[in-house]
Amino acid sequence: MRYEELKTPLKLCTGTRKGGEQQCSGTLHKCKACGHVGCRQSRPDLCSEQGFDVLGKCLKCGAAGQMEALDAGDYSTQQAWLHPESTTVN
Ligand SMILES: [Zn+2]
Ligand SMILES: [Zn+2]
Repeated sequence: MRYEELKTPLKLCTGTRKGGEQQCSGTLHKCKACGHVGCRQSRPDLCSEQGFDVLGKCLKCGAAGQMEALDAGDYSTQQAWLHPESTTVN
């Protein structure tokens, strides 16, 4: 079941929710200060891949207010950049 890839073009968190075996599937955010990518949770340590607390503070470097959403545009731009030949093939 891969419905999470269909409901949104955004890349979703592949971490595991603490206290269960469910995939997190939270929206990913990126820290502008250190580049760390992770989901945002309402409480600390809710997800194995959690990157930000409820206030948007980076759990990696501790920077506050540096969280930005990873949108689909970021990914398509990055992929075109990594694979330039794919954009020139008709
Ligand atoms: Zn997560
Ligand atoms: Zn950071």
